[in-house]
Amino acid sequence: MSDRSYIQVVTTSTTRGPLDLIAIERAVNDSRPEGMTMAELREAARILIAHGATVSGVAKRLRLSKDRIREWFPAELRPGGTRKGATQCGTPQGYRRHLAKGESCQACRTAATQATYARRRGHTLGTAA
Ligand SMILES: [Zn+2]
Repeated sequence: MSDRSYIQVVTTSTTRGPLDLIAIERAVNDSRPEGMTMAELREAARILIAHGATVSGVAKRLRLSKDRIREWFPAELRPGGTRKGATQCGTPQGYRRHLAKGESCQACRTAATQATYARRRGHTLGTAA
């Protein structure tokens, strides 16, 4: 047995909606077949990340750029590399960092929106009492 366990993707059916699960299973375990759609590649990347793969590992396996992987899964990816001053995703601070770089990140946007609402609610309650 190899130390890397096989990831089973195909279960009862070989497709899910537009996704070819056989192609995805091959991509996550072996090498990316030709002709995979972006949706299939994205699903393969999601599965690999769920199994603890790194950004560079996923990018290499699926022959995609690391930026593409990060763009697809900003929230799921652990902040690797511990860059100095790196801000975590899913926080208002992260949102501001994205804004400064002109990036879009759903996790951070949600966090920032919630923080704004929480602040507004706080103010309203404070003045209405
Ligand atoms: Zn983010």
